[in-house]
Amino acid sequence: MTNTNPVILVVNAGSSSVKISVYVVPESAHENVDIQPTLVAHGQIEGIGVAPRLVARMADGRSVADESFPVEQVADHDAAFRLIRLTLQIGLRDTPPVAIGHRVVHGGIDFADAVRIDDDVIARLETLIPLAPLHQPHNLTAIRAIRGAAPDLLQVACFDTAFHAGHDPMAQLMALPFEYYERGIRRYGFHGLSYAYIARRLQQVAPDLAEGRVIVAHLGNGASLCAMRGGRSIDSTMGLTALDGMPMGTRCGTIDPGAVLWLAAQGMEPDAIQAMLYGQSGLKGISGISSDMRALLASDAPRAKLAVDFYAYRAAQEIGKLAVTLGGLDGLVFTAGIGANSPDVRARICAHLADLFGIALDAAANSENCQRVSRDSSRVPVLVLPTDEEGMIALSTARILRESGGL
Ligand code: AMP
Repeated sequence: MTNTNPVILVVNAGSSSVKISVYVVPESAHENVDIQPTLVAHGQIEGIGVAPRLVARMADGRSVADESFPVEQVADHDAAFRLIRLTLQIGLRDTPPVAIGHRVVHGGIDFADAVRIDDDVIARLETLIPLAPLHQPHNLTAIRAIRGAAPDLLQVACFDTAFHAGHDPMAQLMALPFEYYERGIRRYGFHGLSYAYIARRLQQVAPDLAEGRVIVAHLGNGASLCAMRGGRSIDSTMGLTALDGMPMGTRCGTIDPGAVLWLAAQGMEPDAIQAMLYGQSGLKGISGISSDMRALLASDAPRAKLAVDFYAYRAAQEIGKLAVTLGGLDGLVFTAGIGANSPDVRARICAHLADLFGIALDAAANSENCQRVSRDSSRVPVLVLPTDEEGMIALSTARILRESGGL
């Protein structure tokens, strides 16, 4: 890799954080669309507007920055973005990026693949803000800020919904009057960048399994599960919004819609209901302690145990549901922060699945987060594969860069 290789930035703008990863596109990407760009540096600011902290390091682990800032200095996403870019530029010796790939949570009906961003795309993504109120506005802020500063720079939107495009109507329908389905009020599914990465990874590590019926459990702060057949998404536990499905760190997952009506009838404003369902529910709401799985596993409090037990129970239930969709189960994959790192949570979920699916974990392999954590005798193999959503965005951005003649 030389200094002249094109550089791509991957931007993941969340509600209180901005993450930027720097990738270099190898020469061979000119001819081959499937060559994965190489990560060279990563920077992130957490606690924007509250207690901003910048951490940046090169891919080899060398620290570029680790610093807290006064709130006034990093009051918003714009300031955070500028600060990370400046910091990483020093580490990268001022190589300007040729393209920027963004994680965009909701692509709605319109976007079934990554897309080059223009004014029309931005306008269409703005209409989806009510369907992803926690994420979409911040994704768009980053896009607009960069477009303002560098109007000619190629920007690419990569969607969490896109991997699920093409679901059968059975997976998309909600039993509301049909006109709402036609207006886009349907189940989309999210975490698609993670699932797309896992589908590729499965082809490398377990090609036979990749052809089969696999359920992937993406268990991070957000959590969902995806039913895949032959590497394609068939159904997912998330729906119209990223609230649906299993309980998460602070999000409620599936609840009776009557509960929302009850809250509204009590006089709770829509904004307050939204804040509760997205920010005060899930593990945090049940435990009353934390949204962080590590904190709950370390706690002796009865409600911490209740929250973790319910989490595992609901994850297992959703696996059962998706297995019906697939007509069987050939493999189970755990990924994301909890899925890839918590032997305890995996064991609790799989305990529910032992009788029905003949799943048997290998305790030693599970405790070490090995790639295969099930026993040879397990009827269904269980794998642990760390995800790489940023890597997927870099790959799609390099493809669009190449297609637009930029490589
Ligand atoms: P993510 O959103 O993928 O970064 O995942 C964040 C979640 O992963 C948080 O709930 C963390 O507590 C959890 N997590 C990370 N490492 C571990 C671990 N070793 N054991 C249990 N949970 C973990």
